[in-house]
Amino acid sequence: MSDQKPRTKLVHAGTRRSQYGEVSEAIFLTQGFVYENAEQAEARFIEAGDDEFVYARYGNPTVRMFEDRIAQLEGVEDAFATASGMAAVNAALCAPLKAGDHVVAARALFGSCEYVLSEVLTRFGVEVDFVDGTDLAAWKAAIRPDTKLVFFEALSNPTLEVIDIKGVSELAHAVGALVVVDNVFATPVFQRSLDLGADVIVYSATKHIDGQGRVLGGVVLGTKDFIRKVLEPYIKHTGGAMSPFTAWVLLKGLETLDLRCRAQAQNAIALAQALEGHEKLASVIFPGLPSHPQHTLAQAQMEQPGTVVSFELKGGRPAAFAFLNALEIALISNNLGDAKTIATHPATTTHQRLSDEKKAMLGIAPGLIRFSLGIEDAGDLVADVMQALDRA
Ligand SMILES: *Cc1c(COP(=O)(O)O)cnc(C)c1O
Repeated sequence: MSDQKPRTKLVHAGTRRSQYGEVSEAIFLTQGFVYENAEQAEARFIEAGDDEFVYARYGNPTVRMFEDRIAQLEGVEDAFATASGMAAVNAALCAPLKAGDHVVAARALFGSCEYVLSEVLTRFGVEVDFVDGTDLAAWKAAIRPDTKLVFFEALSNPTLEVIDIKGVSELAHAVGALVVVDNVFATPVFQRSLDLGADVIVYSATKHIDGQGRVLGGVVLGTKDFIRKVLEPYIKHTGGAMSPFTAWVLLKGLETLDLRCRAQAQNAIALAQALEGHEKLASVIFPGLPSHPQHTLAQAQMEQPGTVVSFELKGGRPAAFAFLNALEIALISNNLGDAKTIATHPATTTHQRLSDEKKAMLGIAPGLIRFSLGIEDAGDLVADVMQALDRA
């Protein structure tokens, strides 16, 4: 049944029914599992079969349902779910790397991803070089024969740079480096990063996959060899496991993921078009607009241009704050991918930690707003933004 379409897989894939035949996936809120005899316990510790579990830090039936569903959606062999998106990023980087290895990463990154690369890996003797991710020549110059891994957000936070997955993957594979892609902004619905050349995909499931602001979660996807031989030993012994309750919430999230992402993308397109050229804005950044520097690449790489629009108010921080404070529907918060529209001021919140020089280099201007579109009515959202701009 591997030819099922994504929307069918999102509802049914990976389901494990108990003897009661429940319709909604069961929450196996158990940390351990009982064995019929000592021999069975021993055998299971030597090798647990597909439907056999030993300890929830290693695996759990509800968590396995979530892993199987998203793996089938991505068309990848295996997946490991984690307690948060950062647990996924940390494991995907730490598990395959060791002291002396060389890493190349795009410089436009989620703050915590940047921290793991520049502060954690380097402390353990991994050398990390950052490049302008949109510049293939910069990747080419930075990737060396001894480069072991490249990392980037396919659509970057919050300035929505689009990275050429195919181009970067070809350069990385030429030296045998592993390509790890953080696909959060692009979403599993709109981009098939593995088909484009990525080896490993990580998601913060906290974002679109939950999509209703309830839980933290993450997942790493890749080949069975990578997930079971490289990643699993690291995660299961360092403790980043997902809770079965979280897995259940995320299974419910997956059921409606496609519907929500498409509604959010339509709202993003409507808002970006309405905002372009607005007199109070210095810029509108959205890969779906022809004015976006990587518009053509985005069209080739993504089915839809994503669910986030970023824009810069001309009046800097005072105007940005006045705008946020005037919003009536959109919430001031820092999640994204939620059913509720959320507006963020990256310079003072998610990217506050960065120096002014680094913010300037990354385009995180004092007037920049990151606007994550929810599933509300497009007309209401555009009207809300317009009235808030009037008052900014
Ligand atoms: C939110 C986010 C993360 C981290 O996810 P958490 O679930 O908050 O730990 C990693 N990468 C990107 C691009 C994100 O947006």
